[in-house]
Amino acid sequence: MAQLSNDCFAFGGALMRLDEARALVAARLSPVVGVENVPLFAADGRVLADDIGAPIPLPPFFNSAVDGYAVRFADLTPGAETRLPVAGRLPAGAAAGAVPGAGSAVRIFTGAAMPEGFDTVFMQEDAVREEGDVVLPAGLSRGANARRAGEDVEAGARVLGAGHRLSPRDLALLAGLGLSEVAVRRRLRVGIFSTGDELVAPGSPLGPAQLYDANRAMLLALAARAGCEPRDLGILPDGRDAVRDALAAAAGDVDLLVTSGGVSTGEEDHVKAAVEAAGALTFWRVGIKPGRPVALGVVGGTAFVGLPGNPAAVLVTFAMLARPLIARLAGETWRRPLAFPVRSGFAYRKKAGRREYVRCALAPDGAGGLMALKHPREGAGVVTSLTETAGLVELPEDTTAIAAGDVVGFLPWSSLL
Ligand code: AMP
Ligand code: MG
Repeated sequence: MAQLSNDCFAFGGALMRLDEARALVAARLSPVVGVENVPLFAADGRVLADDIGAPIPLPPFFNSAVDGYAVRFADLTPGAETRLPVAGRLPAGAAAGAVPGAGSAVRIFTGAAMPEGFDTVFMQEDAVREEGDVVLPAGLSRGANARRAGEDVEAGARVLGAGHRLSPRDLALLAGLGLSEVAVRRRLRVGIFSTGDELVAPGSPLGPAQLYDANRAMLLALAARAGCEPRDLGILPDGRDAVRDALAAAAGDVDLLVTSGGVSTGEEDHVKAAVEAAGALTFWRVGIKPGRPVALGVVGGTAFVGLPGNPAAVLVTFAMLARPLIARLAGETWRRPLAFPVRSGFAYRKKAGRREYVRCALAPDGAGGLMALKHPREGAGVVTSLTETAGLVELPEDTTAIAAGDVVGFLPWSSLL
């Protein structure tokens, strides 16, 4: 496993723009996971270790795109109907056999190999069968309804790049090219802790002044969806030494340590001191809201990310910063999700210089488009603001106010997580 240097997150500046923070992640970190071969059928969601070149063309041979009649275009009468004898029958998978003579048609089915010299196919709906002949209408162009070998993918072409995360669509392509196994990155092992003396695991009775740990369930699921192997490392008490010892003990077993809570500057926030005692810690004052400073560190050569405590802040900082960081360590190429335009259903003011993410539901705007509706409760601890919304409206750094009806960028949860 690759070890990180303690100063890899060092940063001398003041407020960091989100794009700058992501650029630093890309520049300072590199993949820490090795490579393994997996069967194609088990490769959904895995990250390609290498570029993939096409070993064969797609389609592999010249074939019919429809059920109908294959002809040589040169045998057709220009501008008029053509009557040709039907000289053979080719279902999909049949070897072409003897080549029918000039001036004949062949009954052919979708996916069947075109006989040598034949170049054009009439759809059966357009053809009229008369005894042993077929009558074909005028007006078709050469090559119609036939698929050339390599018209989808030429042999040798690069179809997917190293770092690409495989989807079911990609599996169709790779299987079509005959690949039964792919080289992928090993899953990033992510250890997830919650911190706080007030937290209780769901399933246990709740005492006075206690609340259930909401973040761990969410973070374990987010890590799994990001293609990682999540490790549930439980709840840590608010105490420097306990946190230090737990992080140091876990560091050897995982590739990334993630905590939530305990990273503010209050005297009961012990994660900062614990990470400093176990390794190195840097606060990045990233200009996003929600999302207080994000704590980044290294414990025993393993990366550490300290997220805030409030669930909405956890989700936003995970999506905006931890997710690209995970991608980098896991060898995955990360692309900034594209916001799509919707009308704002609300007016809003914000400070210049930071990017804000507003939790919103979507509704029809009455003019054929969509309108973003701000969740009525904005607090970062309001968990229903995550379940009652469809995603985030992204307000850029230089925006200071929007009016109801303005076009804003919307990021659906599905594009972020
Ligand atoms: P902290 O940063 O530790 O002060 O936490 C900020 C707020 O988030 C406090 O109200 C905590 O009780 C709450 N919080 C921290 N961790 C969790 C968690 N795992 N689940 C639910 N709430 C949490
Ligand atoms: Mg706390």
